[in-house]
Amino acid sequence: MKLLSEEYAAALDSRDKLAGYRNEFYIRPETVYLDGNSLGLLSKRAESSLHELLESWKKFGIDGWMDGSHPWYYMAERLGEMSATLVGADPGEVVMTGSTTANLHQLLATFYRPEGKRTKILADELNFPSDLYAVKSQIALRGMKPEEQLIRVKSRDGHTLEEEDLIGAMTDEVAIAVLPGVLYRSGQILDMERLTAAAHERGILIGFDLCHSIGAIPHRLHEWDTDFAFWCTYKHLNGGPGSTGGLFVNRRHFGTAPGLAGWFGSDKAKQFDMDHDMTPAGDAGAYQIGTPNILSAAPVIGSLELFAEAGLENIREKSLRLTDYLIELIKAELPDSGLVVASPVDHDRRGGHVYLEHDDAARICRALKEEGVIPDFRAPKGIRLAPVALYNSFEDVRRAVSILKGIMDEGKYKKFNNERGIIA
Ligand SMILES: *Cc1c(COP(=O)(O)O)cnc(C)c1O
Repeated sequence: MKLLSEEYAAALDSRDKLAGYRNEFYIRPETVYLDGNSLGLLSKRAESSLHELLESWKKFGIDGWMDGSHPWYYMAERLGEMSATLVGADPGEVVMTGSTTANLHQLLATFYRPEGKRTKILADELNFPSDLYAVKSQIALRGMKPEEQLIRVKSRDGHTLEEEDLIGAMTDEVAIAVLPGVLYRSGQILDMERLTAAAHERGILIGFDLCHSIGAIPHRLHEWDTDFAFWCTYKHLNGGPGSTGGLFVNRRHFGTAPGLAGWFGSDKAKQFDMDHDMTPAGDAGAYQIGTPNILSAAPVIGSLELFAEAGLENIREKSLRLTDYLIELIKAELPDSGLVVASPVDHDRRGGHVYLEHDDAARICRALKEEGVIPDFRAPKGIRLAPVALYNSFEDVRRAVSILKGIMDEGKYKKFNNERGIIA
């Protein structure tokens, strides 16, 4: 049977244990949505948990902080417990709060302690811009020069990083390392366990940005002994635009005073004593700042229920089969199109999305969108495609490649300008 035949994809779908979860999501039938690594789709569960929280406001007013099925006062901690299995955390090590960038600021304000000649922050040249903006401003806040204190480890091929190179840059001038779990562009998984061990052997604290890895691959942060991590919930976790982020702090660090203190980081029993001296929570809750964004956390409740039911191992297994199928199809059907698969091929190196490069990437993305396939463009020449285990089918992947083949074979993208829109 031909890879690109509807029968072949249908056979793969008929053996898919997670196929039923597609009905849990709002999917426009005429489109193939492959942008779940940028903004996941709305599920019916997320919608209903959001409605439930609106109801609790309607019904209880101020008493919603303590009453209802999800008392607001404990929601950040409760959602932290619900996401602990996704990152491999012990109880109390995760709290749902803030946003990726704000959480990184908090964690650097707390754990970046330049001292003597150990003053530098280790990152990489493929890092996400916002993370580097945060890192540079944290250096500047301490009266130092970002260009002297920030190390950006180079990529050998422009797409991936070698752990060896990252470890080689861990000198006795480095205080702390901030690296991605999965690279946002190429989708490469970094060996977080190895990097953590290497950092600790050299007296360096290490934290990971899990934006592209949470909900896509399993983590064992506690077991690896990682110091801290932070993430958003609107990508693979389908929490909706701007949904509340999360952070992990290893229990070894419990009791470390929050760099950016605020009353929601208090011990919950003492918070409303209104004392002018803060008593921080004894766990990761201490790194919250102000009143939680309840309505932005609400959809995440329903989302996390879906993850608990479907099981992250099953999600990862299907995700790999989807991306395998996608890569196989592109290689078989588009050999001379100029499209290059720039994601790692090994399973233990590939996250939840596939990254392609082409000089005409911007207009290829426009042509795809016009034909109902939703990709994600990353300047200057990247196309990210994320077939998501909970809601995409093998037929989606087949249809996307078949449309892409039509666009490339007939040069249909050439009618568009090769420029990006404001976002993608
Ligand atoms: C999506 C993403 C962010 C976004 O940060 P926000 O504060 O949520 O806007 C940051 N870092 C990485 C690696 C991302 O993929």
